[in-house]
Amino acid sequence: MSAAPSRRRDRRLMGRALALAGLNHGLTGKNPSVGCVITDAHGHIIGEGVTGKGGRPHAEETALQEAGAGARGGTAYVTLEPCRERSSGMASCSSGLVSAGIARVVIAIEDPHPTARDGIAVLREAGVRVETGRGEARAARLYAWFFGSVPASRATRSK
Ligand SMILES: [Zn+2]
Repeated sequence: MSAAPSRRRDRRLMGRALALAGLNHGLTGKNPSVGCVITDAHGHIIGEGVTGKGGRPHAEETALQEAGAGARGGTAYVTLEPCRERSSGMASCSSGLVSAGIARVVIAIEDPHPTARDGIAVLREAGVRVETGRGEARAARLYAWFFGSVPASRATRSK
């Protein structure tokens, strides 16, 4: 089995993550509803998650828990940049993905929010391959309200 990234698979799995995100859209309080799909090293889906009602748990936490040890060497598809730090002081999703041994993270859109920003940097520093922009147009529509709540000085830093 090849673990080589396939554009078609990426598109399909990000579509699935976006559909998951849509399930709890409007039900996650101040947090955006995020969808996450995790595959093993062979590209088989082993975990899925959506942000919990009220904003917790985060989608990545649920998907990683379901995936378990199979996540090692796998790929995570996330509709929004995984958080870098959390106001609650709990482990962030970016460090969770690193600890689980995820090799590649495909992200629809970057998060301009101050406490979530730079999750991508955390992943890259740990040697995880990160790709952004897959499904970005759909994600931008989904998160327009959330991005609109970000302080302007931060929003302009995006990209
Ligand atoms: Zn998170």
